[in-house]
Amino acid sequence: MAYLSDPKETIAVLQRYHFNFQKKFGQNFLIDGHVVDKIIAAAEITKDDVVLEIGPGIGTMTQRLCEEAGNVVAVEIDRNLIPILTADTCKDYTNLKVVNADIMKTDIRELLAEYGERPVKVVANLPYYITTPILMKLLEERLPVASITVMVQKEVAERMETGPGPKDYGALSLAVRYYAEPYIAANVPPNCFMPRPNVGSAVIRLTLHEKPPVVVKDERFLFALIRASFNQRRKTLVNGIGNAPETGCTKEQVAEALTRLGMSLTIRGEALTLMEFAALADELGTAK
Ligand code: SAM
Repeated sequence: MAYLSDPKETIAVLQRYHFNFQKKFGQNFLIDGHVVDKIIAAAEITKDDVVLEIGPGIGTMTQRLCEEAGNVVAVEIDRNLIPILTADTCKDYTNLKVVNADIMKTDIRELLAEYGERPVKVVANLPYYITTPILMKLLEERLPVASITVMVQKEVAERMETGPGPKDYGALSLAVRYYAEPYIAANVPPNCFMPRPNVGSAVIRLTLHEKPPVVVKDERFLFALIRASFNQRRKTLVNGIGNAPETGCTKEQVAEALTRLGMSLTIRGEALTLMEFAALADELGTAK
């Protein structure tokens, strides 16, 4: 069986099956073995691990994952790729289960139940059109996940990794911090993919916290507050949160809460850490 990280082999497989790339599925296949090595190393895969791969494509990373991990479950939306994986590129791996499904409509907990209580490692070269929804699903559903190591658009990786400040910081950065510790493991240029995407990419690893780093009385209210604060980025918190129906707070309540916390009345969401948002959520939650 030939390894796909050799671009010639990838082209041969694509030609053998007359495969047409589907733009709507965000198909940019990896053709660089060094990048696959970096992803596998960042994910720290061992034979004890169960790996969930989202979007295996023709199996470039799947082959390596099957060799390094105990079990691999690969969920692929494009049914044209299933026979390529199961009857060709990955046919020899007995530790692989390929599922033809949309990951957004998949009950991941049920899918992984047969592997017992072990937390899984998610590894993927994600389709860029739904990166954030997929990550939020993995994080918010409190799935039995130990880490998520994924290729994403470079600027999305930066948004996830950054702290307070005017650039990039936002609701995604705060959600990621609440659930995980982010770390960018590699930057990847467009020529490592076929077809080439028109943006740079990066591999980011999210190591999930056992417990969130902050404790709040109402987690849903915390996230409603965070979303409202960044919906209108340039507005102060008093105007942004005070205007937002989903928070149910008046401008006066926001101003009073900020004053009690010793924060400026002109402060914007981009200046607050997760801890500060948590303090504000508890303060406002009590005042409402
Ligand atoms: N892992 C392969 C690689 O690195 O060469 C392919 C990566 S490609 C960027 C994204 C893959 O995700 C494609 O195979 C695409 O068909 C699949 N995909 C797109 N949307 C999906 C979804 N909602 N659920 C599952 N797979 C999806």
